[in-house]
Amino acid sequence: MPRLIADRPVLHTTSELGRVMAAARAREQAGERIIHLERGEPDFDTPPHIVEALAKAARDGHTHYPDAHGERALRETLVEKLARENGIRTQVEDVVVTAGGTHALFLSMQCLLSAGEELLVLSPHWMAIPKLVGFAAGARYRTLPVYLELLSGAWSPAEFGERVRAALKPETKGIYLNTPNNPTGAVVSREHLEALAAVAIERDLWVLSDEAYEHILFDGSAHVSMASLPGMAERTVSIYTFSKSYAMTGWRMGYAVCPPAMRPAMAPLLAFYTTHGVFPSVQLAARAAVTGPQACVEEMRSAYEERRGLLLAGLAGGTAVHGAVPKGAFYVFANVAAARGTRDLWGMVDEWLGFGVAALPGTAFGPENGDYVRLSLATRAEDVAEGGRRIAKHAGKSRATEKAPA
Ligand code: PMP
Repeated sequence: MPRLIADRPVLHTTSELGRVMAAARAREQAGERIIHLERGEPDFDTPPHIVEALAKAARDGHTHYPDAHGERALRETLVEKLARENGIRTQVEDVVVTAGGTHALFLSMQCLLSAGEELLVLSPHWMAIPKLVGFAAGARYRTLPVYLELLSGAWSPAEFGERVRAALKPETKGIYLNTPNNPTGAVVSREHLEALAAVAIERDLWVLSDEAYEHILFDGSAHVSMASLPGMAERTVSIYTFSKSYAMTGWRMGYAVCPPAMRPAMAPLLAFYTTHGVFPSVQLAARAAVTGPQACVEEMRSAYEERRGLLLAGLAGGTAVHGAVPKGAFYVFANVAAARGTRDLWGMVDEWLGFGVAALPGTAFGPENGDYVRLSLATRAEDVAEGGRRIAKHAGKSRATEKAPA
């Protein structure tokens, strides 16, 4: 039998999320009830006016081959939205419509990274990033932990800039930034972004700015787009998605805003990797999402904020797990060092499944996060509250009886 899977690391990766979900499913099939705090998908339905716009667009005949770059009407709307909400001045030619934010990140990395070049990934980072770099043949990444420090206010803008500067190598070509951050909920302030921008300009780096959670902000925090800062539009690729803001994960709709210099490469990449564009009716529904009433965005945002309070209040009933208060996105990245004790993190995650809570190990977000789990707020308020209470009640109980690994 021939060897059917090539010897490329990216084809041999496993998913921590898949492992937790499979373990949870096995218990559910055995009749146990599991509270799902591992998943990062809005539990809300897509707002009805967006669904209606899809039906109308399909009825109106928007069912033919799309413009591979994205429907012009949508891109015009996005240019206005970017100016209004993000302070980014761009043109239709530099906005490309993709099958979700993941796809926008994929295309950007294909365009930006050559063999032997390195992406500096500010971390903890969204778990798909290593795979996305892995598909860019010969490119590498390295992590630089920053978001927990930024969330706790430990670093001034100058110190943040220094840390990034010190981490750069000659082969570093760009920086992956994600604010609001999945999984920590850190929202990088304007001053901190300015410090990062100064390093990028000084060292002639590009920035891949993932703004998937731009609308999910707590306590009045403000989202600042990297490309809106002076001198950054020409070196920043900004990534957006409809998945989170409008609960449209299944629609696979996102977009990237590129510097004009990327046009020649993005055109063939888009045409090829979308097999010629995204379903036009979905694009027109996405346009309706941006031009229509925004109350739905605020309703979902405030629901996440309320759940944040419920989860943290639940956790506060115990002493073994501590979650820093997120300022955006919809997760609590909780420190479980005391609950884990000397065990392997997976041992603890399995124990938590035993008392009915599924959590995602922090190692999914970078190898240095073995003392953390991500707890999602994208599930019913009652479950978030009950999950917090169960963790507070049970976590850390069995650690004293576990033997340290030899
Ligand atoms: N970036 C981040 C930080 C995310 O968390 C996600 C989804 N979990 C995405 C991008 C991409 O989402 P999608 O492909 O659904 O647009």
